[in-house]
Amino acid sequence: MNENLLTGKVTGINGNMVSVAFAERVIQNEVAYVLMEDGTRLKGEVIRVRGREADIQVFESTNGIKVGDQVEFSGQLLSVELGPGLLTQVFDGLQNPLPELAKEAGYFLKRGLYVYPLDRERKWSYTPEAAAGAVLKAGDSVGSVPEGIFRHRIMLPFDWNGEWTVSWTIEPGDYSIDTVVAKVRQGSEERSVTMVQTWPVKVPITCYKEKLMPKEPLITQIRIIDTFFPVAKGGTFCTPGPFGAGKTVLQHALSQRSEVDVVIVAACGERAGEVVEILREFPHLEDPRTGRSLIDRTIIICNTSSMPVAAREASIYTSVTLAEYYRQMGLHVLLLADSTSRWAQALREMSGRLEEIPGEEAFPAYLESRVAGFYERAGLVTLNDGSNASITICGAVSPAGGNFEEPVTQATLKVVGTFLALSSERAHARRYPSIHPLDSWSKYTSLVPADKIAMARATLRAGNEVNQMMKVVGEEGTPIADFVVYLKSEFIDSVYLQQNTFDPVDSGCGAERQNRVFDKLIEVLKKEFTFPDKNQARVFFQKLRQEFIDWNYSPWKSEAFDTALGRIDALLNEAR
Ligand code: ADP
Ligand code: MG
Repeated sequence: MNENLLTGKVTGINGNMVSVAFAERVIQNEVAYVLMEDGTRLKGEVIRVRGREADIQVFESTNGIKVGDQVEFSGQLLSVELGPGLLTQVFDGLQNPLPELAKEAGYFLKRGLYVYPLDRERKWSYTPEAAAGAVLKAGDSVGSVPEGIFRHRIMLPFDWNGEWTVSWTIEPGDYSIDTVVAKVRQGSEERSVTMVQTWPVKVPITCYKEKLMPKEPLITQIRIIDTFFPVAKGGTFCTPGPFGAGKTVLQHALSQRSEVDVVIVAACGERAGEVVEILREFPHLEDPRTGRSLIDRTIIICNTSSMPVAAREASIYTSVTLAEYYRQMGLHVLLLADSTSRWAQALREMSGRLEEIPGEEAFPAYLESRVAGFYERAGLVTLNDGSNASITICGAVSPAGGNFEEPVTQATLKVVGTFLALSSERAHARRYPSIHPLDSWSKYTSLVPADKIAMARATLRAGNEVNQMMKVVGEEGTPIADFVVYLKSEFIDSVYLQQNTFDPVDSGCGAERQNRVFDKLIEVLKKEFTFPDKNQARVFFQKLRQEFIDWNYSPWKSEAFDTALGRIDALLNEAR
């Protein structure tokens, strides 16, 4: 054992928390290892230091740890490894690769076994991009390698302060990630740059020139989102909903259809079966933009409900750090976290063990600041080279019983830009995606002009009122004018708000197409129909709806698209 290492001795064990007496120095949030008698080393993180005692949250089962076992303090904050080869991988919350995950339902790495996240042997075709004499700052590129469909930038480590002058670069060629590819100098100090660096997960990477207000819409190709409750590139949104409301299916659709470069999926504390499904499916899904496998631009961080709860807290930070790394390359990244409620539960569990004073529903008092801190790592930035890049964060929230008044949903609503309320009522009626058109909101700008949205919204609201009233007075007691408003609102719902996630055409509705379809929808809303009776009104809207749905299912700009539109126009012309 290394003589210089700082060590301590276990004094107590409480679930995943181990108390340690130490003699010298311990750093808050540093990584520590418990050395068990049988030689197993268990990784943990220092979460509290009091006097000569530290509390460590161990990331694995603490079975068999004994009072008196030795503990090694690493002096390093909990970190991830950043370099080429991250894309396509599946990691656990501590960035251990889980390649066998899709095959097995077991998922556990052997306890105490930690694996390099990145392949040490693999060769990458490196091209130097900063010549000798070039002056660089942290986060600037020295060169690049192809990774999937991108140039993966090899960057000056993010914690190298000040300006560095390139003193040497390697020839273009195939190298492994540990190869020194450049040397840089600052005053009398020279440092070597390799293709890999480490970064502490709880510290944001901020090597950019400035952070901008997110404005440009992030096209998700989901109509109800892009038109009614838009998301901005670099913005934040959340999808709270009760169990079974469609959160996971929605995030899945977002990962496939959103117009971003890189997708990071943080499967956090959800059931193993669901995660396996994602993992099985992803490699077979085609990226609609590139025709390649979707997994080529995806990283999955996976900490299922059957895995130790402590690593769950880390998994959220690991995923957002990977997102920041790819943003630093000038890319647009979407981070999907499912579910942040499970993450909050991990915080609550740890807080309970630490015997902290509990806040609402026993969540720690710092729940809000942790939630805010996570979403604040989203953002649109201008990099030093002038290019813009972004991280957009979407968090699923799974409040028990779908009660949005609970602390995690409330803390989330305070910080996000878009709130997509998933409703079990809509899910039960199979109105998918089950985003509630009256309860949801967005602070970002839609791709459709505001006056048109206002008109559709007013119809939805009025239609809802008529519907409520009809429940009391019946259809007979409802004036035909009101009845037509109701039919119009149902029409918006069935042809525009609802969208078939599993249809190859309807699942992705681009910006241009949304504008086109929405204009036609507005034409219908504006038209003052004079139906002789309610039955004829109903029959007309049934027909129109069918034609619209046919239109939605026809490929954009195809012949079928034009003929379906022709039938819609004919119907509208016939109606008086
Ligand atoms: P949650 O994650 O909120 O618990 P899921 O996303 O797993 O819920 O959805 C539960 C079930 O509801 C799915 O297995 C599927 O059968 C159905 N479902 C959800 N969203 C859709 C959708 N967009 N289209 C069709 N079925 C859906
Ligand atoms: Mg789910």
